[in-house]
Amino acid sequence: MCGIVGYVGKRDCTDVLMNGLSKLEYRGYDSAGIAVFQNGKIEVAKAKGRLKNLEEHMKAEGRPTGQIGIGHTRWATHGEPSDVNSHPHSGGRVTIVHNGIIENYKELKDYLISRGVSFDSDTDTEVVARLLDYRYNGSPIQTISETIRDLEGSYALGIIFADHPEQVYAVRCESPLIAGVGDGENFIASDVPAILEYTRDYYLLEHEEIAVLGRDGVHIFDAYGQPVEKELKTADWDVEAIRKNGYVHFMLKEIHEQPTAIRTTISPRIQNGLPNLEECGITLEVLRGFRQIHVVACGTAMHAGTVGKYVIEKLARVPVTVDIASEFRYCDPLVGTGDLVIVISQSGETADSLAAMRLAKSLGAKTLAIVNAMGSSIAREADMLIYTHAGPEIAVASTKAYMVQIAVMYLFAFELALAVGQIDETECRRLVTLLEQTPDSIAEILERKEQVQYIASSLITADSLLYIGRGLDYALSMEGSLKLKEISYIHSESYAAGELKHGTISLITENMPVIAVATQTALREKTISNIKEVKARGARVILVCRASDTIDPEAVDLRYDLPDFDDLLMPMIAVVPLQLIAYYTSVLKGNDVDKPRNLAKSVTVE
Ligand code: GLU
Repeated sequence: MCGIVGYVGKRDCTDVLMNGLSKLEYRGYDSAGIAVFQNGKIEVAKAKGRLKNLEEHMKAEGRPTGQIGIGHTRWATHGEPSDVNSHPHSGGRVTIVHNGIIENYKELKDYLISRGVSFDSDTDTEVVARLLDYRYNGSPIQTISETIRDLEGSYALGIIFADHPEQVYAVRCESPLIAGVGDGENFIASDVPAILEYTRDYYLLEHEEIAVLGRDGVHIFDAYGQPVEKELKTADWDVEAIRKNGYVHFMLKEIHEQPTAIRTTISPRIQNGLPNLEECGITLEVLRGFRQIHVVACGTAMHAGTVGKYVIEKLARVPVTVDIASEFRYCDPLVGTGDLVIVISQSGETADSLAAMRLAKSLGAKTLAIVNAMGSSIAREADMLIYTHAGPEIAVASTKAYMVQIAVMYLFAFELALAVGQIDETECRRLVTLLEQTPDSIAEILERKEQVQYIASSLITADSLLYIGRGLDYALSMEGSLKLKEISYIHSESYAAGELKHGTISLITENMPVIAVATQTALREKTISNIKEVKARGARVILVCRASDTIDPEAVDLRYDLPDFDDLLMPMIAVVPLQLIAYYTSVLKGNDVDKPRNLAKSVTVE
């Protein structure tokens, strides 16, 4: 969750830290703080709320000035969001910032209290600061190395020692952290965008590696304090890509980037009109070896997996289960040799998905990661890997990452169906061509927004609503509903249209709009019957269907007209108005669209 930045160099450190933290705002946070060496002494400034609160606090109380320091945006897990619980936390000679959760903090805290140590905050983080200080023997690396042996949970730590005013130290376990390498200046950060303005070169810290940053360079040591040689990586993300490019919100920009994201993701994987995933380790031969597929993911990525399930089962006739990663990892799953476990994650650091993947591997299954962030933990540990090339996704509510996740699921399903002989090359080529045409239809939808804006304006007073659909439309409505919840704060649920009358229809009143998705030709009449059932009970119905569909006007209040497209690939087209409905509802309600309350972009805790 949230973000860490650290700097050693020649610039004004407070500027670099605040700028870096602003690039990490997309990860979600509730408070922020920095610690800077000012004339050899550590000065701390921290405040609950947004970075602008911290700026105001510094204007009133003084702005630390120096060239070396650490900064943090916090997403509270232990102790309410408050000034005192904000990071950095100090243990005396040691000051730290922390992302993650120390699971055994209570035990460590009790131990330290029994030794006469006292605490200022309610955080698990302060326990680490105090423990480091308690153990400190003048050797930072040795102290860090000894202390991390006692920590259970997840952490990325930025650390400064009062008697080492020329260095910043860092260490991680589970939570992501990179060390950026510049010219006479070096950085730590939770993610690449925080340092892109200054350098593109960075080291990806592995579990329990300790980094020492000085002006002269970055030195990395293993958990036992032994020096390690690491490969320097170069970020290929363009600085411009992390700006809004004229859009009001990152979310809108990212929705508009979907046609390009699809093309960039699928084009390199198509050869002679057929899918080719060989560079990802997937051949027809490999595909023939799987008797069952399990998709494991969280949130939006899980919804992408649900679309994938329908498509794979329909085309390839291979059974697919879809599991929520946080359930899968603790439910003693029936997975083993001969199974393929597909893990989908935008960040590649989703803690539950990573743990589920490790479990699947230990049970003998092969793993395939579908991931957006290069070099992330899930990407590195999977047996096979398909990168989605969506570029950086800054808005917390995922749109373009979902789009390319489903694009990849389609390509995978086509190749699998070909491999197991359920479709021939001609059919496979036809499907690939359709997939290649999706960006044009999406672009067409993005040209006209009045219809969705009107629908959004009709939703803002609702307290609760339902999304319904059948088959692929049901899979899609799950994502539409989640998007709306995430950013508009209106309660909504998605239901299989035929299931409503088994209970949930009792909730229908005039105040509960129903958004029905009906793009699957074979199921359309069935869904229309369900629409009539809710309409008869007073619901306001908004129908998403093809412009060419003739629907009884009495059955619906508002319609969103989609361009014509093949049923199978319709989710890629029909999700766009659902994303836009969520977006405009949030905008109209005056919400913080890109940084919705209580949510973080990269969920690196359980
Ligand atoms: N667990 C720590 C806290 O609650 C750090 C949370 C974070 O990752 O920001 O302060």
